[in-house]
Amino acid sequence: MRDGLLELLQKKNRFVSGQEIADTLGISRSAVWKSINRIRQEGYQVEAVTGKGYRIMGMEDAYGENSIRSALKTVWLGRQTVFFDEIDSTNDEVRRRAQKGAEEGLLVAADCQTKGKGRRGRSWENPPGTQIAMSFLLKPDFSPDIAPMLTLVMAMASVEGIRKVTELSVRIKWPNDIVINGKKLVGILTEMTAEPDYIHEVIIGTGINVNIEEFPEELKETATSLYLESGKKWPRALLTGEIINSFEKYYEIFRQTGTFSELREEYNKLCINAGRRVCVLDPKGEFEAQAQGINDKGELIVTKDDGSVVNVFAGEVSVRGIYGYV
Ligand code: ATP
Repeated sequence: MRDGLLELLQKKNRFVSGQEIADTLGISRSAVWKSINRIRQEGYQVEAVTGKGYRIMGMEDAYGENSIRSALKTVWLGRQTVFFDEIDSTNDEVRRRAQKGAEEGLLVAADCQTKGKGRRGRSWENPPGTQIAMSFLLKPDFSPDIAPMLTLVMAMASVEGIRKVTELSVRIKWPNDIVINGKKLVGILTEMTAEPDYIHEVIIGTGINVNIEEFPEELKETATSLYLESGKKWPRALLTGEIINSFEKYYEIFRQTGTFSELREEYNKLCINAGRRVCVLDPKGEFEAQAQGINDKGELIVTKDDGSVVNVFAGEVSVRGIYGYV
């Protein structure tokens, strides 16, 4: 239950005594104490000093190298984590570091990206203080055609991590978005440097709309945030940690075969397109079809109206619902 404590502490931006909080909000001293604990559980850092009262640390203090590290339970992913208040693109930063010899598992996160990227040269909006922008480095020992599948692995991890923290029923829109209530919450961009039969590196970048209160006009119809869906602000470091923990878990399963054989069933349960009619936006020509789910290669199996079955490869393709974005 919200009682205005968080907003009060943020607005005052100084120490506020327990008595002043109780008087302002019209609640008891013990309710103040309970409320302080609740917002701490949400990931906010609240400083308590005897004789002075309580003061909230800025959101940025709760989202940084240390807070992300303390949320990680991984063996190798994110063991090296670097955080920026502002960066052009977390994918580009991972690439620059990879070129200088960074090791597999490097995680770069930022409060704000000035040139956040989407697929096919599109941009990703990333205002400060409200989003997760993160990218990590993989050096998989597989042929380059597995790269699109890693996007799908990241989508599964994002859903699991977000559900764990928020309990919101987020789903995957094949291949690279996480959606809720018909709107986009997360975008994933996988980039690769490779020879024809050898991968140098794969960079998986993820942008998550966590605490965004309002979107620009052109995104209002299709974009949403965890805040807009739940009415609550969420701790970005904890979300980042849970998603990274999930990715490592799913990736270990994926890398045993380099296919989706073990993960396909679970993916299809999380995928909002499975069993629905979709519009396939293929640069070679758009068509409508009935989506079944993914195959072991991560391709979307669809049945066209003439009865033919087509496996849609993720590379250049987006899907839409028949009546809207999903
Ligand atoms: P689509 O979402 O159209 O199916 P896509 O998944 O390939 O295609 P991306 O390349 O991942 O899209 O993301 C870029 C697009 O996402 C932009 O063109 C813009 O429409 C939208 N977008 C940009 N910033 C955000 C944001 N913060 N939240 C939600 N959507 C965004």
